[in-house]
Amino acid sequence: PEPLLRIEGLHVEFPTEDGVVHAVDGVSMEVNPGEIVAVVGESGSGKSVTAMSVLRLLREPPARVRADALTFRGQDLRAMPPRRLRAVRGGPVGMIFQDPMTALNPVMTIGDQIAEAVLLHQERRDRRAAQARAVELLELVGVPDPGQRARQYPHEFSGGMRQRAMIAMAIANDPDLIIADEPTTALDVTIQAQVLDLIQKAQAETGAATVLITHDLGVVAELADRVVVMYAGRVMETAGVEDLFVRPRHPYTVGLLASLPRMDTDTDALDPIPGNPPNMSNPPPGCPFHPRCPLARERCRAERPALLDLGGGRRSACHFPEEVGP
Ligand code: SF4
Ligand code: MG
Repeated sequence: PEPLLRIEGLHVEFPTEDGVVHAVDGVSMEVNPGEIVAVVGESGSGKSVTAMSVLRLLREPPARVRADALTFRGQDLRAMPPRRLRAVRGGPVGMIFQDPMTALNPVMTIGDQIAEAVLLHQERRDRRAAQARAVELLELVGVPDPGQRARQYPHEFSGGMRQRAMIAMAIANDPDLIIADEPTTALDVTIQAQVLDLIQKAQAETGAATVLITHDLGVVAELADRVVVMYAGRVMETAGVEDLFVRPRHPYTVGLLASLPRMDTDTDALDPIPGNPPNMSNPPPGCPFHPRCPLARERCRAERPALLDLGGGRRSACHFPEEVGP
């Protein structure tokens, strides 16, 4: 069966003064109906750029986007005219961004913005019904006193409340897919858990598949069904969430797991991966992880590893996946 979202051979380049930055370098992944897929990796690994290019949110030019396939519900997103794309965004695809302040209109009340999102995807534009729906949605996402709060502006909302309003907008039209890009990164730790719970609830309520972009493996463990690990604009590993944590099959995943704060000790002894992600205008030859990889050897410096199917829904872009241990 056709997956809900299919990305194949995605490349995204940005020309800069220092040369062409290859931000996404041949990424393939698919998202099936109803599943939560976490896309993880350090910042600069191409996670957000991948998500943004799917919905054609990057300015092209300067960005250059090409792909072998880019489909949503079997329809080619590359061939879709801008009008149709706008109807997809905020309709069957809901989006939640890291900083709701940049995604919200500062001079429009929260209620009007949510109502607007509802109206955009309605045949009969019924403003009163849309306003009522906005209040209902605010209540659903746990904004207290929703009738009152609907008349306020984004700056009158706290960060956590703004993120709730964004989630209300994302689910306003009963989406099939929710794309959440670092939805809790800008929030206080105590609020993070509430917003994560809410995303989980929104997902359960709408049955929407969810792509959750995050650098936080704790979030992954809590929410995801499946994980895509990215590094240097490429997919390093994909696996079911349990398999990934119990038996990673890529050295980069092992490094990420080792840098996770330990629950079983009272130190939060982080063991970060030595070195830094590569400069994407001049990435290393062969495996992009080789300068940081404890298993690296000659072949790794010369030959780019393909993303190989290891069976059981697992893929790894390492020449020596059988040598990888936790
Ligand atoms: Fe490490 Fe080589 Fe595997 Fe790359 S291909 S992750 S350098 S062992
Ligand atoms: Mg990002």
